[in-house]
Amino acid sequence: MLNQTVVIVGAGHAGAELAHALRKEGFEGRVVLACDEPHFPYQKPPLSKDYLKGGGGEPLLLKAEALYEKMGIELKLGARVAEIDRDDRSVRFEDGESLGYDHLVLATGARNRRPPVPGLDDPAVMELRGLDHCRTILSRTPELEHVAVVGAGFIGLEMAAFLREKGKVVDVVEMADRVMARAVSETVSDWFLALHLRMGTKVHLNTGVTGVRHEGAGALVDLSDGGSLKAGAVLLAAGVVPNVEIARQAGLEVADGIVVDEMLLTADPAISAIGDCAFFPSAYTGGSVRLESVQNANDQARAVARRLTGNPAPYTNLPWFWSNQGPARLQIAGLSTGYDEAVLRGLPADDKFSVFLYRQGRLVAVESVNAPGDHMAARRIIERGVPVPPEAATDLSTDLKALAKG
Ligand SMILES: Cc1cc2nc3c(=O)[nH]c(=O)nc-3n(C[C@H](O)[C@H](O)[C@H](O)COP(=O)(O)OP(=O)(O)OC[C@H]3O[C@@H](n4cnc5c(N)ncnc54)[C@H](O)[C@@H]3O)c2cc1C
Repeated sequence: MLNQTVVIVGAGHAGAELAHALRKEGFEGRVVLACDEPHFPYQKPPLSKDYLKGGGGEPLLLKAEALYEKMGIELKLGARVAEIDRDDRSVRFEDGESLGYDHLVLATGARNRRPPVPGLDDPAVMELRGLDHCRTILSRTPELEHVAVVGAGFIGLEMAAFLREKGKVVDVVEMADRVMARAVSETVSDWFLALHLRMGTKVHLNTGVTGVRHEGAGALVDLSDGGSLKAGAVLLAAGVVPNVEIARQAGLEVADGIVVDEMLLTADPAISAIGDCAFFPSAYTGGSVRLESVQNANDQARAVARRLTGNPAPYTNLPWFWSNQGPARLQIAGLSTGYDEAVLRGLPADDKFSVFLYRQGRLVAVESVNAPGDHMAARRIIERGVPVPPEAATDLSTDLKALAKG
């Protein structure tokens, strides 16, 4: 299908990477990259990190503007796909325009989850997913004294650290009994909780937000423990939900994301799904997962580009992730789902350590705090299935880099 038409819906990390990867793989047909956002495709992680700290300006682009024209990629910005017509093999945009495809790739990403809490539509409530959100936060930050962050996941905590560095009073409210509970081991949760407390953030664990009430220029945030917080703004960071609506409406199977097989194909051989919106069989857990990471978006895009240019292979890339919170860098290699043993390499008290996580004796994930060398080695070790018994992992004289190479 080297000279057919590929339409990509969503120009985030996955969509933009796919468009360019198709050209690199020799695809000569038409490539249309359509996105509802009006901005040139930009990088999202800096929105809670360097872009925010730098005070805004132009975002870091995913690819230089000139490359789209040079690579013959038709970019349709501010163009929301409202419907897929699978019989006709076309998509219909919100403005009524239709566009035919030979292959359609859904790279629609995710949006912030809005828990069923009264008052979340109050103007004091902010969120962070895209550039416009980030610009709103930046424009409001100077006037704020106190911010309540709902959710102690990666983004909630990155934002809490940023706001503390700006001298704001910060309360983080989290339903779970520890921070980043869905994603990291207890040791890493505990270390980051201590870090945020040291930075002066108040963290309310085992606590839900039951309502937001407008008050003056800000809001009163009601908590499940009966208390309430008076804040100039509320930052909603309670996780995301995948953008699956157009897939569902087209009759494609949807679970925690658009269901695809190990080739990242839906049940319709003319439609693939990649990135934050895709629910795919993981080579590392034995079940299907949906991941929210730049690595996943990029690697799935490249896998689909190879398939569409005649080199199909099951998607098996090792997941990895990072998060910067204040002075700390967390890096995760692998997926810890169902781990039954955790051992430490280095000491949390030294602010530099890794947690090696095993499932039935097999190393499945490594979480590294301020230990980039461990992380890089762990990625190769897990990918290659190099055996590293727990005793060897904890022994600092074990040369992980050498093991990774071997
Ligand atoms: C603030 C922030 C910080 C992050 N930090 C990290 C980090 O440190 N490390 C990391 O690995 N990951 C991080 N992530 C996650 C990472 O950015 C996502 O995993 C990645 O963006 C997923 O790429 P994607 O292309 O699947 O989705 P997205 O980047 O969300 O792009 C999807 C695009 O599709 C558009 N779209 C949706 N529906 C339609 C439609 N019907 N028609 C047209 N367009 C549509 C959306 O508006 C969006 O522009 C962060 C995310 C955020 C928001």
